[in-house]
Amino acid sequence: MLETLRHIVQEVNAARGLEEALDIIVRRVQDAMQTQVCSVYLQDGNNDRLIFRATQGLNQALVDEASLPVGEGLVGLVAARGEPVNLEEAEKHPSFRFLPGIGEEQFHAFLGVPIIHQRGVVGVLVVQQAERRRFDESDEAFLVTLSAQLAGVIAHAQVTGVLESRVLTGAVPAKITGVPGAQGVAIGTAVVVSPGADLYAVPPREVKDRRKQVRAFREALEAVRKDIQVVADNLGAELSPEDHALFDVYLSILDDSTIGAEVVGLIKGGQWAQGALSQVMIEHIRHFERMEHSYLKERAVDVRDLGTRVLTYLQAANQEPRAYPDRAILVGEELTATSLGEIPREKLAGLISVSGSGNSHVAILARAMGVPTVMGAVDLPYARLQDRELIIDGYNGTVHLNPLPEIKQRFQEVLDQDAALSKDLESLRDQPCVTVDGHRMPLWVNTGLMADVTRSLEQGAEGVGLYRTEVPFLLRDRFPSEEEQRQIYREQLEAFAPKPVTMRTLDIGGDKSLPYFPIEEDNPFLGWRGIRVTLDHPEIFLAQVRAMLKANEGLWNLRIMLPMVSNTAEVDEALALIHRSHEELQQEGLTGRLPPVGVMIEVPAAVSQARLMARRVDFLSVGSNDLTQYLLAVDRNNPQVAGLYHSLHPAVIHALEFVSDASRAEGVPIGICGELAGDPGAAVLLLGMGYDVLSMNATSLPRVKNALRNVTVKEAERLLAEVKEMESAKHISGRLDRFLAEHGMEKFIHNPVA
Ligand code: PEP
Ligand code: MG
Repeated sequence: MLETLRHIVQEVNAARGLEEALDIIVRRVQDAMQTQVCSVYLQDGNNDRLIFRATQGLNQALVDEASLPVGEGLVGLVAARGEPVNLEEAEKHPSFRFLPGIGEEQFHAFLGVPIIHQRGVVGVLVVQQAERRRFDESDEAFLVTLSAQLAGVIAHAQVTGVLESRVLTGAVPAKITGVPGAQGVAIGTAVVVSPGADLYAVPPREVKDRRKQVRAFREALEAVRKDIQVVADNLGAELSPEDHALFDVYLSILDDSTIGAEVVGLIKGGQWAQGALSQVMIEHIRHFERMEHSYLKERAVDVRDLGTRVLTYLQAANQEPRAYPDRAILVGEELTATSLGEIPREKLAGLISVSGSGNSHVAILARAMGVPTVMGAVDLPYARLQDRELIIDGYNGTVHLNPLPEIKQRFQEVLDQDAALSKDLESLRDQPCVTVDGHRMPLWVNTGLMADVTRSLEQGAEGVGLYRTEVPFLLRDRFPSEEEQRQIYREQLEAFAPKPVTMRTLDIGGDKSLPYFPIEEDNPFLGWRGIRVTLDHPEIFLAQVRAMLKANEGLWNLRIMLPMVSNTAEVDEALALIHRSHEELQQEGLTGRLPPVGVMIEVPAAVSQARLMARRVDFLSVGSNDLTQYLLAVDRNNPQVAGLYHSLHPAVIHALEFVSDASRAEGVPIGICGELAGDPGAAVLLLGMGYDVLSMNATSLPRVKNALRNVTVKEAERLLAEVKEMESAKHISGRLDRFLAEHGMEKFIHNPVA
């Protein structure tokens, strides 16, 4: 059963569109359960009716025609109760309603299970048979499991189906909801960033130069044929006869004149080589997946692999430097820091990532750069958006396609208001961050890209609380050498000198994997990350620390910070390595004392050991992004649980205060460098807790400065006392919004076009 389930889910996942997905479901379920009927009814959101959308065994002519209101008939009962209904004789049930012409008179046994996605019923899956007997428990369990697995796919296909049929081909407006990534609004033109070769993500494209495309396809095919031959030859004697047979299968698929001829046929019809290849290969993959025989079914994997190989060559041959439109909006399946580096900043208006969430690193970078961003837009048919005009609402996490003129006008107004607000705040640039009662709060910035430096200085940053050294590592294709690192770090230190610059040692792992140092783990955020990697690779750590210390020479504004610490031994080991580098460099003639060293508090274990940590180092800095994810057990990258990720959760607020108290008890300065520091309301709370320094993305700095210049420490302490008693993030965030409003700062409560 498990195997059958897996195959059905796989096939449905690979379907192109809702119709095909439903068709696969009814055929495969009917077959797997050996029933006479299988049908799917889907809810129409507009009028609360369940539409008969696909069937095997009932009257096909009524598909899309017949329907029932939720609550009526047995199907309506399943939807209303959100539970399975299993009956021996359907027609005897009081809820039974006869649908004329559908052809179910002869079927007595009925089993319907709800299809539930994100707590809502999206439809009902039904099997029926003539024999008067209840479906047994294992049938019911099978259907419930299948329905649960398919609900997401169906819901997704339903949304994208509507989008593709009505929105992309016509001019019907649509709003797609994701997760806010970086605040702000952008109106611009979509530029689709293709992931690595993916047959399913190739957009169709018409071309004129067909001959060139045919040639490119043949060359790619030949290159793959050679690659496979080379591998087979190299392995030679080591291969068993069965393994050899596999290579023969590969080569015979490539030699298969029908596949090649089909691709060439489509190209001659005007399709570009990549599009033609993708279309033909996907059809063949499906064809194999439908085969009964498991050996033949497995061939689908080979066809997919081959198609991907040919596509890789086609894409490599096609890579010309890209011309970006003005106000480009980058759209991709999974945008990364690297994709941000490819486009000139002045052309970049916004970002949309299908996966990831508001605290993914690409979103953090986007905030630092002030680029409006939507993450987790899972229903967006992104591959088909090239060159389309889009609106991004980074405040609410939505994307608008084909907006009505009045909606576009409204967004233009928000854009203008934002620009005016930034202009207003510019006047604060050279003003200190001092509260109404004279308390000074240093505001620092988080940096990573060189572009952050100018922005940060323009916004009046007084130091760098977090320089993410992994960013320059991410933008390369190998580890930078010690000397290359020295130059990069020197540039940062020089740009801010004499202001302090806190350099964090390499924090890779989690969602930051270097292309040249892949870390493959089932559970990357609980795995080999940050200090754990660098302590296991002292050569990487030592080179980095040496580069930092050398870069510091003569400027003396360096601070070193350790990420992802979860026990005191890690601090001791890291300190020993730092001391060793310093001593060695002194022997080589380096002058100057050891710079201040600090620990990030971003793991719950480090919170409770904060005093012990503080005794060992010169400062502590809370990484509220990770601390939130670990305290709440919510993956910061997963859009599915993004609604549960909230740095204003009481558990986080209590931990923040606990760390601040611990640090002060040891007489060690305490800062924060997570995104929370950039939230004006939260900044007031942090002031109330006694934080010594707030480090945030450059874009947030003027807003936070404005907020703190409007309050007194006493008010901040009172606000803290109040919210500490609250039981949810929602209550706390509501109270902070009201506090801002009471202090004349409604403009920072941002939800402009909800
Ligand atoms: C944090 O976790 O809060 C932090 C500042 O580090 P990063 O976001 O880079 O993981
Ligand atoms: Mg972190």
